[in-house]
Amino acid sequence: MTVEETLVLVKPDGVSRGLTGEILRRFEAKGYVITGLRLVHADRALLTEHYLEHAGKPFFEPLVEFMESGPIVAVRLSGERVIAGVRSLTGATDPTSAAPGTIRGDFGRDWGAAVQQNLVHASDSVESARRELDLWFS
Ligand code: UDP
Ligand code: MG
Repeated sequence: MTVEETLVLVKPDGVSRGLTGEILRRFEAKGYVITGLRLVHADRALLTEHYLEHAGKPFFEPLVEFMESGPIVAVRLSGERVIAGVRSLTGATDPTSAAPGTIRGDFGRDWGAAVQQNLVHASDSVESARRELDLWFS
């Protein structure tokens, strides 16, 4: 058994729509444990580091601007296979096609920039979870 930790960010759209509680409720209902929680107004340096893998892509600048536009709730979650489990609860990147029952599928849609405002970020591997937790919870 390997207990993992992962990073979730409730993005500015999730916070401004008042969905933070509903989103955290789903992770807790699944049985994952919240081991860190912060309300952060992230600056460009932190967001550029966070989204380093996407630097240079056409959606990078607008994504950073969106993530700077309001407060984010950063969450550290712990549990067996929590990284994959949280990605599963989060759903596909495109909220319009994300499966019903997932956070993005139930609450996300196309608000203009098709795939941008999808409510949550979740780490996608052990390595990225470690790297991202260091950034947001150092
Ligand atoms: N994104 C975007 N346009 C795209 C693809 C992604 O604005 O065409 C945004 C979206 O907010 C997404 C984030 O960039 O959550 C990171 O993209 P990634 O492919 O890593 O998706 P995720 O891991 O969040 O599902
Ligand atoms: Mg990703």
